[in-house]
Amino acid sequence: MSEAGTLRIISGVGAKGPACFLLEAQGKRLMLDLGYGPQPGLWPNVDDVGRVDALLLTHSHKDHIGGLSLLPKIGNPPIFATEITAKRLPAGTEVHPLPMKGRGDVLGIPVDTGRNGHAPGGIWMRFHAGTGLLYTGDYSTESALYAFDPLPKSRTVVFDCSYGEDDTPLAERLKILAPHLAGDVLLPAPADGRGPDIALHLYRAGKAIRFDDATRAAVRDLTGAARGYLRDEVEADLAKLADAALPPGEPSGATFATPADGSGGATAKLFEQWENKAQPAIVFTGYIPPGTPADRLVKSGRAKFLRWNVHPRLSDNIAQLRATGAATVIPAFCDSKLLPALQAALAPANVTMDKVLTLV
Ligand SMILES: [Zn+2]
Repeated sequence: MSEAGTLRIISGVGAKGPACFLLEAQGKRLMLDLGYGPQPGLWPNVDDVGRVDALLLTHSHKDHIGGLSLLPKIGNPPIFATEITAKRLPAGTEVHPLPMKGRGDVLGIPVDTGRNGHAPGGIWMRFHAGTGLLYTGDYSTESALYAFDPLPKSRTVVFDCSYGEDDTPLAERLKILAPHLAGDVLLPAPADGRGPDIALHLYRAGKAIRFDDATRAAVRDLTGAARGYLRDEVEADLAKLADAALPPGEPSGATFATPADGSGGATAKLFEQWENKAQPAIVFTGYIPPGTPADRLVKSGRAKFLRWNVHPRLSDNIAQLRATGAATVIPAFCDSKLLPALQAALAPANVTMDKVLTLV
């Protein structure tokens, strides 16, 4: 088979870090995501990348879009993203639209997209370079809120391996979380991700919900005109939740606040009020970047970390990757130490963390 292109890993493979990949195909150089973090100060190194023809963004989380200040280093290329992701970019960012589900066009190169079940407006992307390159970005099959379109056929897949070998289903996580969420609780969580998902779950279970302004705005936005990225029959409950939720005040019920790491905003204010008191419980449900207030509270024992799944567990990846028929798969956003275990779990696919890959 002849060469159909090259994939270069700039950042995001071998360790948890910002997403940034470069696809060279059909005479074009396409950058896939340009993140920052999630650990403070972690930037992708684009110094030697040179000029890029377009930047494509999977979703609006910081570790996928936070590196936009680096754009001048790669020639200020045009940006492609879904309309919903575009709205979450810094004001004034000019964006060319990609569909949430369907076929888009990037400088004459067709790209198929589907909903990633992970964030508002979030997508996976499949390119027709040779027999196909699929980049999942972040994805989840388990959200009750965000719709997920199964991964399409593709020979090569860069996939979300944020949870590594973890295979605990969300149903099991809910059992572990239940006693910690039973009383009054502060849940710092992203408004454009698991915050509304957890809130909907607790609301349906009859719990009183409180939202900071950002979470309230995100839920209102979710309940607006049909957005096309929610699961069926979610909107009615979400609208009721948006009406019922109170602002933060007394530490009663479940209070949702942003940002998840407590580095500012409503979360930082609530930490000031509550961290030296016994109540409410404080529960973090996602990745905790080292050196953040969230990290400090968990280490001191004042807060707990109990995961709520927003990425695929190992069984999800095995099933989804098998359905793609992929011959070569690249685990992203996990440690290189996991490579032998992933090779065993995903055989007979070739599992690699090589920095440069020739596509056929
Ligand atoms: Zn994400």
